[in-house]
Order: sequence, then C-alpha cells, then structure tokens
Amino acid sequence: MTRNIHSARIRLIREPSGRPQAGPVVYWMSRDQRVRDNWALLFAADQAAERGVPLSVLFCLSPKFLDAAIRHYGFLLQGLAEVENVLRARQIAFALRLGEVVPSVIDFLRETNAGMLITDFDPLRIKRQWKQDVSAEVDIPVFEVDAHNIVPCWETSSKQEYAARTIRPKIHRRLDEFLTDFPDLAHPPAAMQDLPPVDWQAARSSLQVDMNVAEVDWLRPGEEGARAMLREFLDHRLERYEQRNDPNADVLSNLSPYLHFGQISAQRVALEVMNSNKSPAAREAFLEELIVRRELADNFCWHNKDYDRVDGFPDWAKKTLDKHRKDPRDHCYGLEAFETAATHGALWNAAQQEMVSTGKMHGYMRMYWAKKILEWTTSPEEAMSIAILLNDKYSLDGRDPNGYTGIAWSIGGVHDRPWFERPIFGQIRYMNAKGCARKFDTRAYIKRFTTPELPLDPHLQ
Ligand SMILES: Cc1cc2nc3c(=O)[nH]c(=O)nc-3n(C[C@H](O)[C@H](O)[C@H](O)COP(=O)(O)OP(=O)(O)OC[C@H]3O[C@@H](n4cnc5c(N)ncnc54)[C@H](O)[C@@H]3O)c2cc1C
Repeated sequence: MTRNIHSARIRLIREPSGRPQAGPVVYWMSRDQRVRDNWALLFAADQAAERGVPLSVLFCLSPKFLDAAIRHYGFLLQGLAEVENVLRARQIAFALRLGEVVPSVIDFLRETNAGMLITDFDPLRIKRQWKQDVSAEVDIPVFEVDAHNIVPCWETSSKQEYAARTIRPKIHRRLDEFLTDFPDLAHPPAAMQDLPPVDWQAARSSLQVDMNVAEVDWLRPGEEGARAMLREFLDHRLERYEQRNDPNADVLSNLSPYLHFGQISAQRVALEVMNSNKSPAAREAFLEELIVRRELADNFCWHNKDYDRVDGFPDWAKKTLDKHRKDPRDHCYGLEAFETAATHGALWNAAQQEMVSTGKMHGYMRMYWAKKILEWTTSPEEAMSIAILLNDKYSLDGRDPNGYTGIAWSIGGVHDRPWFERPIFGQIRYMNAKGCARKFDTRAYIKRFTTPELPLDPHLQ
C-alpha cells in the first residue's frame, strides 16, 4: 500500500533500464477526468511527494476520437476547464496538448524531463495501443492505475467472465477490501511550474469532428455538475429505482455521461448510495447495475479484443446467427434510414430520436433498439457496425465498454444464454414492441420523442 492506496490498483507497465530522471511526476489523465476521488491522481501526488518533485497533470486532446462529435468534445472540454481551475487552486500544473496523442505525451515527457509517468486504466484497444506506444519510447517507470472500477479489472478475474452470475461473487467478495473511502490529495512538495492558462478556444478550433451533432444543455458537464446530478438522484429518483425498466418513469441516475468521462467516480457514487436512507431494494438494484454490470463490461473488453465485432460473440451465438444468416427479412434498412429515424417502427424511431435529441437513450429502450437493428439489417456484422456507429456518434456515454458490451449482449448473446429459436435471431433473446407495451406505456414514450409527421402506432414492431 502507498498511504491508503491499495497496491493492487497499480500496475507497473514499463520498467526503466537507466538511471532515474529528476523531473516531475506526470499524470497523463485520459479516462478519469476529475480531481476528486481519482486513484491515479492520488498515486501520482503521493509519488511526487515521496520524491520531492512537482506533479504535472497532462491531457492530450486528439483532434478526433472514434465517432465522437462536438457534443462529446464540448462536454469533455468543459469538464477539463474545471479540472484546470481546481488543480490550479491546489498549485498543481495542468497542461493540455493538442494533436496526435502518442507524440504529444512523448514530447511532454522529454520537454519536462519527467521522472515518472502515471496513467489511468482503460480496456479499449485504442487506449491500450497508445500506452504501449508511449511506453516503448520512454525510459522512465510507467504505471497504470485502475481509477474507474471499484475492484481493479485485473484483480476481479484473470479471464473473460461468462455472465453477471459468474463475476458477481468475484466482485462481492473483494468489496470490503476495495470499496473504501478516498484519502486526501497530497500537497505537491514543489511549487507549480508557471504554466500559461489553457487556451480553450484554440482547443475547440483544433478539432476535426462532426459539428452537426449538437451539444445538449440538460446536464452540466464537469465534476460539480456530476455531483449535483448525483444529489438529485439520491434525493428524488433512487427511491423509485425499481421502476427502472419504465422509460416514462424518469428514475434513472443520468450519471452515465459523467461516469464515461470520469467526471465522477463510481466508487464515490456507490458509497453515497450505500449511505443513503433509501429503500434497500432500490439501493441493491442500483448497485448491481453500477458495480456488477459496469465492471462486467470492462472485464469483457479487457479480455476480448473483438468486443465490437461478431468474432467476439460466444460460439453458440455465432453458430445460431450463421444458421439464420439467409433468413428473409420483412424490413431491411441502411444506415441513413436508421439514423434519420425513418423505419416503419414508431417505437424504434422514438428511441432513436431520444438519443439524437438528448444524447442519451433510456436503458431499457437501448436493448430493444439494438435488437431491432439486428432484425432489420442484412447481417449481424452490419447490425453491429450500424449500432456502434449510431451509439458512439449520438450518445454522450458512447465509445465506452458499457456500450460495446450492451450492443454485443443485444445482438450477439454476450453474457446471455440461448433462448427459443426463431427467424433471423436464432437463439438470441428476442424483443418486440408488444412486449414493451406490456411493460410500460409505449404510446406516451412515442409521443414524447416523435416528431408529428412520423407514424404513431406503437405496435408496429
Ligand atoms: C444496446 C445497449 C447500448 C448501451 N450503450 C451504453 C453506452 O454507450 N454507455 C453506457 O455507459 N452504457 C450503455 N449501456 C448500458 C446502460 O443502458 C446505460 O449504462 C444506462 O442506460 C445509462 O443511464 P443511467 O446512468 O441513467 O443508468 P442507471 O440505471 O442510473 O445506472 C447507473 C450506472 O450503472 C451502469 N449500468 C447501468 N446499466 C448497465 C448495463 N446494462 N451495463 C453496464 N453498466 C450499466 C452505468 O454505469 C450507469 O451509468 C448500453 C446498453 C445497451 C443494451
């Protein structure tokens, strides 16, 4: 343990061959974009204090990233502006570098003569590649800290888990050890270098992303906004969380965009929910999603390099989908019809419009939405690529292990089991609009999110 940081949260990913450098400890912030409750930053601050050197926090802003648009970059940049201010008040340097990530990190380390690099954990391929490329080019210790999961991903399990039921006991048995409160951030021993304030306008101008996916204003980006959303959830929605499968009930936490950008720690959310006086059943249901399902998604992406492809599906699912590959489809759409919510299905169109207009689709509708893409495209491969593209482009919380796993669950039976065989789906679990109508008022949902010229029959698929 370093102070109160469990050593199992930290992995050495590059051991230096030469003599130690005297420069600052650098925390390359990537997935966990916050100052509070951040194990990677806490470890970096401790290391700086131990060595008697300054601490610098670095963020490298890639001009584009997967299918992120200005909606996502705007959210990220506003959150980072808050990070800069909070760090400045604590005498910790924050640098924003623009351009390709790997050379930006390497240049920064060389320019500052950095003595140590610490970064946060992310199971996605692109992030792993960045870390590998940086580590190959520098000769200083490089550490990775899992600041996102409560039980560090590599501690929970050394293999891809089959389902929630297999990972649940592995997580639960380690919670006493890892679900602890956070220590205070150590004061940096050396004064902050006099870095100029970040030019946030220049950062926006450097982007090469889709500017047509508009930013949304119903949630405030950043750590303060995240905490306000958590408080609102605890005070007004958590008590009713058992109605989480009703998209009209408005009981979800709306924390996924903040969790995705690391603007709030899941561990902090879990601690606050456990300490609240709300119904035990509601708290338990929420913690199952926040901890078990979320950490199961990281486990899937960490252990399965094909997390966003049909190749990543379990064998039974690949086999059954293959068997039904040539089944006739009553409806077949291309990307444009899906993207413009122009299918024959009123409920599907409403879900798509919810995502496009608000940046977030209700969790229950996401399952239905992805399953219909499987039914209404020519192949599971096409369904995967359309679902991922739309989710990553419009959902604030997209480009996340939860998204890739949720889509792979819906289309490819990941973490699920075989069901009754039927056309197109084979043994993949089926959903339809009639089933949704048995659970909630689909008409009300359609009305909320449908523009008047589109059809209103909720029973159309
Ligand atoms: C097809 C499909 C696509 C999805 N895409 C995404 C995505 O891009 N990003 C994303 O964060 N989640 C995704 N999910 C999972 C889930 O739907 C969302 O996390 C949830 O709806 C986010 O809203 P919330 O924070 O208000 O949820 P709440 O119900 O309040 O849940 C709180 C937190 O628990 C976690 N959680 C809840 N449900 C799940 C789940 N099924 N799997 C994993 N973690 C969960 C999330 O971190 C969430 O923020 C997807 C699910 C499916 C089926």
